[in-house]
Amino acid sequence: MSLITLNQKAYEHNLTQIALKAGGFDRIICVLKDNAYGHGASLIAPLAKNLGIGFVAVKNEAEALFLQEFFDQILILSHKAHGKENLNFIYTVNSKADLAKLREKTRVHLEIDTGMHRNGVFIKELPEIFKEAKRLKLYIEGVFTHFASADELNDSFLMQKEAFEEAKILALRLSSNKLIFHSHNSAALFRCKEFPLDELCRVGLCQYGYSDFNKNLKKVLTLYAHRLSSRTLKAGQSLGYGGVFKATKDMKIATYDLGYADGLFRYNGKGELKLANGSSLLGRMSMDSFASEDFGEELCVFEDARQWASFFNTIEYEILVKLSPLLPRKII
Ligand SMILES: *Cc1c(COP(=O)(O)O)cnc(C)c1O
Repeated sequence: MSLITLNQKAYEHNLTQIALKAGGFDRIICVLKDNAYGHGASLIAPLAKNLGIGFVAVKNEAEALFLQEFFDQILILSHKAHGKENLNFIYTVNSKADLAKLREKTRVHLEIDTGMHRNGVFIKELPEIFKEAKRLKLYIEGVFTHFASADELNDSFLMQKEAFEEAKILALRLSSNKLIFHSHNSAALFRCKEFPLDELCRVGLCQYGYSDFNKNLKKVLTLYAHRLSSRTLKAGQSLGYGGVFKATKDMKIATYDLGYADGLFRYNGKGELKLANGSSLLGRMSMDSFASEDFGEELCVFEDARQWASFFNTIEYEILVKLSPLLPRKII
């Protein structure tokens, strides 16, 4: 059976690095959305909790319910207001129109659109929003923003940072309660010189060992496949759908039990898609298997998702998050 291993020491190392930069484990909101970026939320959550993490962010209510036994504070990022909100969770207000649809006493964080133009309310709407929230008996507990280009060295990051500072000052003036602020994702956290003292960070990817701005992190996930069968491919014989791979000499090949139904990108047999050992996949990937030279019972597919990301011209986020939740996972 194919297998995902999660390296506990690597995860603890990464979270320690994040805590050092952010000013403590209590300054971290761990983003565990989408099955903890494909790693497996049920395995990552207890590791985070044992390190002292009490605040996480997820995509929706189903994910929040799944993690509620572990964390006191769960922020839901992509919520469509429906009036039956759970009063234990914290809901992101992604648009002003949501306010009137939320249940009374719902705890919310306001997302401010400081320039990404994906979600959030505008700074100029804040006076009205705080007034509305009071009338509707909603609890605004926090205010946050998200950067469009935290990973690129251009001014948009700095301009959004400035706009958020302005939003913080205004929100503090408008609120009669304490407020939590957060803006830095993985790239922003390790890119910034000094992390703001009045904020939490809200990090996903760097927990799992990937960052362009901190080369000191360790990959948490390794993906393995197991051999289904093996045979000798004779010179001139071809392999798999369409027969796109043709042996130029006799070779021992094997089929391994991972395919595009397991969330891998479908390799169409063109170009060199490398396994962790540097050898290439052979022929088109099938739904539930791929072929390569025979490397024995267990084969490491990747330790670094960037190898597959660059082949498919995408980002490591996408390679990781697509790994099927049904794949077996274990902590090592
Ligand atoms: C996914 C997400 C994050 C985490 O981003 P990383 O780049 O993985 O650190 C933070 N904030 C919001 C709003 C997100 O959607």
